[in-house]
Amino acid sequence: MSDTVSVYIHVPFCLKKCSYCDFYSTHTLSFLPAYVTSLQREIESRAGQVKKKAGTIYFGGGTPSLLPLEDVEKLLKTVFTCYQVSQNAEITFEVNPGTVDELYLAVLKKLGVNRLSIGVQSFDAGKIKVLNRIHTIEQSIETIGLAKAVGFDNIGLDLIYGTPGETREKWMGDLKMALGFRVAHLSCYMLTLESGTPLQAQYEKGLFHLPDQDSLADLFMATSTFLGRQGYDHYEISNFARGSQNRSRHNSNYWQMTPYDGFGPSAHSFDFLRKQDRDGREPSLASPVRSWNLADVKGYIQAFPLRGGPGEREVLSLRQQMLERVMLGLRTSDGLDMAAFEKMSGQNFLTLFAPLVARLESQGLGAVLSGPESRFSLTLSGRARLDSIVEAFADRIL
Ligand code: SF4
Repeated sequence: MSDTVSVYIHVPFCLKKCSYCDFYSTHTLSFLPAYVTSLQREIESRAGQVKKKAGTIYFGGGTPSLLPLEDVEKLLKTVFTCYQVSQNAEITFEVNPGTVDELYLAVLKKLGVNRLSIGVQSFDAGKIKVLNRIHTIEQSIETIGLAKAVGFDNIGLDLIYGTPGETREKWMGDLKMALGFRVAHLSCYMLTLESGTPLQAQYEKGLFHLPDQDSLADLFMATSTFLGRQGYDHYEISNFARGSQNRSRHNSNYWQMTPYDGFGPSAHSFDFLRKQDRDGREPSLASPVRSWNLADVKGYIQAFPLRGGPGEREVLSLRQQMLERVMLGLRTSDGLDMAAFEKMSGQNFLTLFAPLVARLESQGLGAVLSGPESRFSLTLSGRARLDSIVEAFADRIL
């Protein structure tokens, strides 16, 4: 069990809504100053008397690059005051092209940010238009260049595939363009049509076609093979790193179900309830708890200067824990840690899922990995069918 947490700071502000996005965000930027104060209060009010260790800090959104630099500095100072931030902490900042200039990026670097995640999404102007992004291709290229120029060497690009009218050629064009920047990390997300989004409404009206399931599986496999040949390790279903040192440590912590503290509206946190033993000394582990703040910037601002937030929480049942460990573990190339599964559930993974594991192995969809740790992992073909395989595991967890 890790005694180090990951810190997430949510910035739910966007200049305008992208057509595919159902994340909570607001375009009322006038809330920003009060919002930052509330974030500081939340971080301070949740800090324990004994400072927790923090191994990663992540500014996500929304569009964190809408934060004025002095606010980024204030927030970082608050985190460093309330946590023991490790010297080699990974500090990631999400940036949208069209919202930053060279000075902004240079100051971010000076403030200690050492990893940038740039929301490029595509290098195809038609795709960018359909997705209703705020930026042009030129701005994306410029932002990557500026980030390199000011000294960032850990840069990730976000890309989307499976968009309306996507073809293999178009997507390969995006990947080839991205490769030209030799960045450390690529996130390649398959588009999902979220209900209530403009894109979904257009789809319902029959205004465009989407690639079918077979074409999407083909794009997924082609992406992995192509990027693999270029030296990118496909370490999570949507994520590729140029060497294991360039994996996102922050997101890897989520997939390993280690504790995280999320701040801001709609941000989630995860921790283990610790009970004192009978003598009131050694804490022993109890149930994992997930908590979250309501998705409401105004309510959040009203709540946090004065008192604890409007959050909710749930204690994960054993079934939920088993399911999450399976679901998250199978997303990664490292696979599911079977020893951790047994420790958490009291059940041997290979015994519990014997027929399913045998079927996956015989179909070339999964394998027990050799190595010092006992792990079960899906093959690339298995990961292309992740949802149905997770469902099959879920059916066997009672
Ligand atoms: S910038 Fe990101 S969070 Fe904001 S609307 Fe677009 S996809 Fe959603």
